[in-house]
Amino acid sequence: MPYDRQCQIFSEEQRQSLRTGGAILRDCLKHVAGLVRPGLTTLDLDRAAETFIRDRGGLPAFKGYQGFPGTLCTSVNDEVVHGIPSDRVLLDGDIVSLDGGVIFDGLYTDACTTAAVGNVKPAIRRFMEQVEETLEAVIRDVVRSGVRVGDISAFIEQRLKKGGCKAVPVLTGHGLGDTLHQFPDVPNVGKAGTGPLLPLGTMIAIEPIAVLGSTEVRTADDGWTVVTRDGSLACHYEHSVLILADRVESIA
Ligand code: MG
Repeated sequence: MPYDRQCQIFSEEQRQSLRTGGAILRDCLKHVAGLVRPGLTTLDLDRAAETFIRDRGGLPAFKGYQGFPGTLCTSVNDEVVHGIPSDRVLLDGDIVSLDGGVIFDGLYTDACTTAAVGNVKPAIRRFMEQVEETLEAVIRDVVRSGVRVGDISAFIEQRLKKGGCKAVPVLTGHGLGDTLHQFPDVPNVGKAGTGPLLPLGTMIAIEPIAVLGSTEVRTADDGWTVVTRDGSLACHYEHSVLILADRVESIA
């Protein structure tokens, strides 16, 4: 691993490739979220995502990654992350996170949104909004060159708490670029002023992953799907962001 202890910095040419790949991913997740309705299976969503990405010249980054079979991780209700697309039928009132990655010109981008299936209870809608707003707020108010990873972690932890939910400590954001997961880890809990400094020109995937109940999770028998131990709901949003001199750019 070339980037196991230092942040990758991207040239202007690489940034353009990240923008192209990131736009494919962003548009893909928007497209697939728009398809979500009761009666579809998570595999239907996965196939739509793969076609969308390949038709635009990208490669599905998750497919085959450490043997993962899908283009998307589709995690329903108490599934937290890494749900395998299957013949599971989405039901009215479910929520499903759609986590995807794209490789373009050899560079990785990673993003996630959570979609409501049909009519979802207002309390669950509010939960989703809190997690999404936490992601938007940390990018707007905290992320820039020279901050420490712990500044991001502490903000996410506190903002989720204020919103009535909790971050899952064992699941983190990460650096990415030449590989899907590289230095640094970006935890969703932590202490301000600690951890690695983020340099100008690097990219990180920021991904608040929150639950309404206990933060204890376990891996299901399929070896991939992470679920809450108490069966409570989970929600996940993620952007890959590039840290520039004058702004933070959401790449995907
Ligand atoms: Mg990620």
